[in-house]
Amino acid sequence: MSKYWNNRIKNLSPYIPGEQPKDRKFVKLNTNENPYPPSPKVIEAIKKAANGDLRLYPDPTSTMFREAAAVRYGVKPDQVFAGNGSDEILAFAFGAFFENANGAASSGTDAILFPDITYSFYPVYAGLWDIQYRTIPLCDDFSINCDDYKIPCGGIIFPNPNAPTGIPIPLGDIISLAEHLEGQGRVLVVDEAYCAFGESNGKAVGNSVVPYIGKHKNILTVHTMSKQMSLAGLRFGFAIGSEELIEGLYRIKDSFNSYPVDRLALAGAAAAITDTAYYDDINGKVMVTRERVAGELRALGCNVLPSAANFIFVQAPGISGADFFSALRERGILVRHFNKERIADFLRVTIGTDEEMDVFLDACRDIIRIFLFSLYPPCPLCPPCEILGEKK
Ligand code: PMP
Repeated sequence: MSKYWNNRIKNLSPYIPGEQPKDRKFVKLNTNENPYPPSPKVIEAIKKAANGDLRLYPDPTSTMFREAAAVRYGVKPDQVFAGNGSDEILAFAFGAFFENANGAASSGTDAILFPDITYSFYPVYAGLWDIQYRTIPLCDDFSINCDDYKIPCGGIIFPNPNAPTGIPIPLGDIISLAEHLEGQGRVLVVDEAYCAFGESNGKAVGNSVVPYIGKHKNILTVHTMSKQMSLAGLRFGFAIGSEELIEGLYRIKDSFNSYPVDRLALAGAAAAITDTAYYDDINGKVMVTRERVAGELRALGCNVLPSAANFIFVQAPGISGADFFSALRERGILVRHFNKERIADFLRVTIGTDEEMDVFLDACRDIIRIFLFSLYPPCPLCPPCEILGEKK
C-alpha cells in the first residue's frame, strides 16, 4: 500500500491472470490459448502492415475489421466495435451500461447480476467503476438457470459458455432473459469468448446470440480473438450489438484512448475474421480432442463437467484441487486452480494438441494411481487397479 495511491486504487482487488512461466518449459494448459498457430494469412497481413505507415496513427474505428466482421456475422459495420482485447471491451461495457453506485440516478435496483462462479474479472470491473453487484448461485449441476436472474437489477453479464465450468446456456433462455431486461431498460452483456467451441458430441450447443441483436437492442455480445483465432498475443477483441450500444462503447473509448487497436493488430484481425475455413478446421480439432480427453478422464473416475469451450473443468477422484494442481505442476504441466468455495476441488484444463493432452493424461493416471494406492495396496481385482490397468 503506497501513500501515493488514491483511495480508489487502494480499495481495488485487481484480477490475477494465469501464470505465463519464463523459468521453465511447461505443457501450458492454464490460460485457454489455442494450441494451433494463427492462419498463415494473418501472419502475411501483419508482415505486410509492418511498413513505414507505422509512423501514422491507426484508423480510430478499425473500419477494415468492422466491415469484414459485418459480412461474416450478417450485421452492419455500425453494429461492430473493435478493441484492445475483449477484456478492454468488457471494461468499457461496465462503464457504459451499468450504473455507478454513486451516480445521481443510482437506485436500490441498480446492482448488476452475474453468477457466483464465473469469469473473475467481472467483480474487478465492478470495483473499478464502483458498480454494485449481486452474485446468483449456479445450480447444483453448475449450470446457469436464467430464470434466477429475472429479478429487478441494473443489468446482467455472463459468459456463454460459462467460465470456468464450460457449460453452455440454452439460447432460448438467454433471449427470454433479454426480453425481461428490456422491460426494465437494462442491458444483457453476453461474453462469447468461448462460443466458437460450442459443440458437444456433434450437437450444436452454446451458440451465439449475434443473430438476435437486430431484434433485441439490449443484448451486447463480446468476442475475443485470443482463443478462437489463436491471437492471444495480438490483443484484439470485438463486440456486436445494436447501434445505440456500440455508440455507448465509443463514448467510453473516446474518453479513454482514441486508438486502442494498432495497425498491426488491425491488419491481423481483419485477415483472421475472413479465414473461416482455417479456423473451423483447427477449432474442430480442439473440440474432438476435448471429447476424447473428457472421455478418458471419466474412465479414470474423474468428474468432468460437460464443456462447450476449449477447456474442461475436472475433479479427480478423492484428490483435492490444490494437491492435483501441485502434482501436475511437478510433472511440468500447468493448469488453473481457483481456490474458491464449491470449485476448490476442480481444475480448469485448457485443451492443447493431442500430444500435449497425452502427456497430461499420462500424468493424471500416474497421480491418481499414486493417490489410490496410498489408500489401497495394488491387487489384481480391486477397482482402482482395474481402472488404472495395473496388472500384478
Ligand atoms: N472473457 C472470458 C470469459 C475470458 O475467459 C477471457 C480470457 N481471460 C476474456 C474474456 C478476455 O479475453 P481477451 O482479453 O484475451 O480478449
